[in-house]
Amino acid sequence: MPVTGSISHWSSSADVDGDWQTQGGMELSIFFAGTGGSIPTARRGLPSMLVRRGGDRILFDCGEGTQRQLVSSVGLADLTEIYLTHFHADHWLGLPGMLKTFDLRGRDRPLAIHGPVGLRALLGLVLRMAGNVGYELDVVELGPGDVLARDGYRIAPVAVSHRGTALGYVLYEDERPGVFDPDAARRLGLREGPEFGRVQRGETIRGISPDQVLGPARPGRKLVLSGDTRPCESLRIAAHRADVLVHEATFAQEERDRAHDNGHSTAEQAATIARDAEVGLLALNHVSTRHPLGLLRDEARAVFPATVLPRDFDTIEIPFAERGEPTLIRWSHAPERMAEQPAAAAAAASASAS
Ligand SMILES: [Zn+2]
Ligand SMILES: [Zn+2]
Repeated sequence: MPVTGSISHWSSSADVDGDWQTQGGMELSIFFAGTGGSIPTARRGLPSMLVRRGGDRILFDCGEGTQRQLVSSVGLADLTEIYLTHFHADHWLGLPGMLKTFDLRGRDRPLAIHGPVGLRALLGLVLRMAGNVGYELDVVELGPGDVLARDGYRIAPVAVSHRGTALGYVLYEDERPGVFDPDAARRLGLREGPEFGRVQRGETIRGISPDQVLGPARPGRKLVLSGDTRPCESLRIAAHRADVLVHEATFAQEERDRAHDNGHSTAEQAATIARDAEVGLLALNHVSTRHPLGLLRDEARAVFPATVLPRDFDTIEIPFAERGEPTLIRWSHAPERMAEQPAAAAAAASASAS
């Protein structure tokens, strides 16, 4: 098995030139392939999320049955890379079958798999299960402080508080240039056409610099995934002002002590992190069948109203701030998909209990 720490050859093909105009419409979304915790049910598979940004397809966790979940919904894409939060079986047991499928389909581009220290040993086991594969696997062990630069965004692990080493992940986009002011550009004597384009791309033309014709830089989008964790300060800090926080909510408040002992969070604790971090939208996952989902939802919304509970195959779309708020799109085979906003969900509470 070729094992390297190198990630330098990983760049996306989607955002071809990094131009701010192409980024303006770039998709960023989270597809929930599995939203249950520990034990699968008829309606909820084990944890896995597919983040889609432009042409990139990034899988976070790969519980047993993940490839089947994907095949049954959006299709099993040729993944760009994979991140594991930790090594409890409900978060990685889908890997051997998925890696084998890629091999059988003739994948030839390398695949990078990231996770906490111990990942190399785990992948040794996974490959004994799957048999060797014909493409290169880059196994990258990560720790707090690492930042992986991608084309237009970065991914950083965050140490969280579970049983054994566990990571959450932050995906944040590069800042975008400010809004172009064509009137200011004309007043300064720039010619409409190519000169407008050049100055927006950062060129200084006849002494006129981009900051004279562009507004303040605009933040990119930020998405934070907790993995399995007790409520923890490092994640609260990492999630500051995130557009979306996906946080586990394994227990209801009545089992708060049990949640702590098992390294998990209650829905209310997840909501408290979301409120304190001032995130835009909280999505709860890793829910167990022990508690009615309506109870988890109500306990969370009492603290942080902008909370949703995605079901398997739902998607959260994250537009740029000036284009709207993150929105949970319920999965539907019908061509017209139903959008559900948190406020609307509160009004139609009974319909969204599972
Ligand atoms: Zn778990
Ligand atoms: Zn776990």
